[in-house]
Order: sequence, then structure tokens, then C-alpha cells
Amino acid sequence: MERYLAQPGKKVSLNDWDPNDKSEFKGNKDKAAERLLELNNELEELQELLYAEGKHKVLIVLQGMDTSGKDGVIRRVFEGVNPQGVRVASFKVPTPEELAHDYMWRIHKQTPGKGEIVIFNRSHYEDVLVVRVHNLVPENTWKKRYDQIRAFEQLLAEEGTLVLKFFLHIDLAEQKERLQARLDEPHKHWKFNSGDLKERARWPDYMAAYEDAISKTSTKFAPWYIVPSNRKWYRDIVIASILVERLKALKMQYPAAEAGLENIVIE
Ligand code: ADP
Repeated sequence: MERYLAQPGKKVSLNDWDPNDKSEFKGNKDKAAERLLELNNELEELQELLYAEGKHKVLIVLQGMDTSGKDGVIRRVFEGVNPQGVRVASFKVPTPEELAHDYMWRIHKQTPGKGEIVIFNRSHYEDVLVVRVHNLVPENTWKKRYDQIRAFEQLLAEEGTLVLKFFLHIDLAEQKERLQARLDEPHKHWKFNSGDLKERARWPDYMAAYEDAISKTSTKFAPWYIVPSNRKWYRDIVIASILVERLKALKMQYPAAEAGLENIVIE
């Protein structure tokens, strides 16, 4: 899965990344469901170990265009994981109170504590994405943010947080289909937001903003993965596999048992 890593220091051109790619999984969709179930189980165990050990913190950042599947990933990749061990923080249009502070204020508060996994559904990256595309702050303000974000993520990493960032890469045609489904299927009407069409019209600007954000902030301590996301099943397998790999690499251990447990007799 390391092929989906955006190499630190290398300029990303999203045209070189195929959103339809499914080359790392040889089976069909049914086999994929089986594989995801195995990965769900592994994640469940790793989460328990993370909590029991109480040493590491895990931050997962999900970014992508509307309909790219951020909610689907949260639902399906974390299926089976103890809800007490995982928290989701969603970042919407900032409130007046949030806007009165620096952009990292609302973000830092939500970062994980020891033994905890936090999933960011959107993140501080909105402050170099939507904010840049819509000129919500002057260019010389958002341009400084790449360095600030790198420094912030380095701080988190040095203080014991595993930071993993995923860009859910779909193309314009796939987004069209998914938006159309929201119009066609009554039970999906609630998801349709005509504002999404305005953002869709700015697709090239968003891709340029994503390319810069990923190129400038994919680091060894907080890497970006560019996940082919036109196929939902493949997207889920890629993300779950990377999480399992990276959590295993922490080489976590259950804490030592109390001495003398073998002699205890429960009456
Ligand atoms: P979802 O994340 O499911 O799409 P919404 O439809 O409520 O949820 O969208 C959240 C909106 O908030 C997005 O359009 C996003 O760009 C916007 N947003 C998030 N963070 C910021 C920010 N810092 N500044 C401006 N808009 C933001």
C-alpha cells in the first residue's frame, strides 16, 4: 500500500494518480468484503491494545471533495471497533467564536489523548483548501499556513501522536454520478446540498489547492496517502490496510499483569 504514499518533498500532480486504480487487490467485490471484515477485526484488536497500553495517540485526517466518501470510510473501516476508543471530530464552517481565534484553535482541542483514536472528518486543511479557493483570507495569510501546519503536526508527532492523512481521490465523472444518485433516490435527498454544485464548478481550483497542500505537508511524521476512491470497496481496503500496517508497526504491548495472578482463586 506504500504506493499510495505521497513521497515527502515531491510535487504531487493528481493527474498522475488514477482514482480507478485497484491494482493492490486481486479479488472481486465479494472477496473485498471478506478482506475488509478481516481488517475490521484486526483494527478492533489493535484499538484495544492501543487503549490498554495507553502510550500512543492516533490522529486520522480524512479529506476529499464532496461525495468522496469521508462518512463511508468512518462507517465501514471502523465497523466493529469499540466506540469508546474512537472519536470523530467533524469540522464545518467555523462559528463566530472559532473565527475569532486562530484557525488551529478548534483543531488542537480535538486531537487525541493517550490510547485514543480520533478521526478528523475535514480538518485544518480546509484552511488551505476552501479558504484558498474562495479567498476567505488574503493569499499571504494562507500561504504561511503550510509551514504552520507542518510545525503543528511535527509537534503532535514528537509528543507521541501517529498522524496519518488520507485524500479520497475521486474524479469529476464519479462525483456527477454520486450527486445524481442523491437527486434520484428519495432516501438520499437529505444529503443533497445545492451548494455542492458551486464547489463542483471550482473543481480545477480545488485540485490545485489539494496538490499544493499534499506536496507541501506530506512528511515522514505526518504522511499523506492518495487513495483511489472511485470504487468504495477498494478505498476502504486501502485505508484499513494502511491503518493496520501502521498500528502494527508501533509494536504495542499489553501492560504487564499484576504479580501472582496464577495463585488467585475466586471463591
Ligand atoms: P460535510 O463535511 O458532510 O460535507 P457540510 O455539508 O456541513 O458537511 O460541509 C461542511 C462545510 O464546511 C464544507 O463546505 C467545508 O468546506 C466547510 N468548512 C470546513 N472548514 C472550513 C473553514 N475553516 N472555513 C470555511 N469553510 C469551512
